Amino acid sequence: GNGNATAATGFGDHPGVLDAAQRFGRFDTWVRQVGLVNPYYLPHEGVSGAVTRMADRDVVNFSSFGYLDLAADPRVRQAAKDAIDEYGTSAAAVRIVAGELPLYRDLEDELSDIYDTDAALVTASGYLTNAAAVGFLLGKRDLAICDSLIHNSIVAGTEWAGCKRVFFRHNDPDSLEAILRMSRRSFDRALVLLEGVYSMDGDVVRLPEIIEVARKYGCSIMIDEAHSFGTVGATGHGIREHFDLPGDAVDVWMGTLSKAIGSVGGYLAGNRELMDGFKYVAGGLSMYTAAPAPSAIAAARTALTVLREEPQRVLALRHNSQYFHTRARELGFDVGTSLDTPIIPIMTGADEPAVLAALAMLQRDVSVNAITHPVVPAGEARLRFFVNCRHTEPQLDAALHALRQVLDGLDGTAGQQFTLAQ
Ligand code: PMP
Repeated sequence: GNGNATAATGFGDHPGVLDAAQRFGRFDTWVRQVGLVNPYYLPHEGVSGAVTRMADRDVVNFSSFGYLDLAADPRVRQAAKDAIDEYGTSAAAVRIVAGELPLYRDLEDELSDIYDTDAALVTASGYLTNAAAVGFLLGKRDLAICDSLIHNSIVAGTEWAGCKRVFFRHNDPDSLEAILRMSRRSFDRALVLLEGVYSMDGDVVRLPEIIEVARKYGCSIMIDEAHSFGTVGATGHGIREHFDLPGDAVDVWMGTLSKAIGSVGGYLAGNRELMDGFKYVAGGLSMYTAAPAPSAIAAARTALTVLREEPQRVLALRHNSQYFHTRARELGFDVGTSLDTPIIPIMTGADEPAVLAALAMLQRDVSVNAITHPVVPAGEARLRFFVNCRHTEPQLDAALHALRQVLDGLDGTAGQQFTLAQ
């Protein structure tokens, strides 16, 4: 003892631990008291498609980002099983040393073909792909210029990099230009960080205009296609296809295998020198980390084949997205700035009505997530609907009518039973 006898252990006084106890502990107590099911970490039983099973009930599912229902496809499932039979459940090594398998290269070839780039790299995690790629690309003397709604994994990358960081107004090329004009190149490198379709608002990046500004000021560009691959572009091949851009229009194309592609993992595509930097030097992508599960990569590869063979999935998704948007507007809902993508926020403003409405929707056998502060700015809480290519029009209509009833029923008093805010 050097006088530290009272130092706390077990992290009971850690701010994050306290925050979880305050917000989710109180919420959990409250839902139990009023006889509701706590929707957080509520297990799904079986495949999470357009319909899923939760708490022993069939529910229409708007909370999964498997937009094209590929995780349920028999051919995709079979590919995963075949890979397990051939390679076992793990590559049991880091790729560079002893973990390389032909199927990683096959998927990389397919992706570099789709993106019209020299090379691509597949990884075990979308989140880590952003964190590690940005962490590798930027250093202390560099600047990350992020869209204000950029995903947490990219923010984590900027912290990993230790670089300077600024945010421009969401999807606004003029705001980007104003920042670049004022910055007077007080940095070595600048990287503009974007998403193809923004995961909370469901709007499409204004990419051609943003590229024009970024290039005028000599900035590099990286775009995260987590929610745009499979959902935009004539054949679902993402933002490059949507805007008909060459493969070198941006420096780094990034995506995840966990959303439309129906697997798990991440990828990067770009010029070969850069991809070699990622492959041979950067930590957390393929260096210093185990090779992706062979089954996950085999599933992703077959999912891309199914996507090519069945473009009607993309058309059905587009139809459902437009249908849901149109009906939502007709019913007087505020869908923010989303436009015909399968991510449709229905804004509630305050956090409490979003949480209460999500609970009430679950009671009506509809699963939809409430997205609240701090994930979105205070006062911009919403129910976020992920539309699926397998939803039917009656399911979409029924969900919207249920929501209309639920939100109309939440007049002042209901919201006062519980508040998430302190
Ligand atoms: N980027 C965005 C925009 C995302 O929404 C997500 C995941 N929700 C990720 C990256 C991380 O990808 P993954 O979940 O596949 O790790």
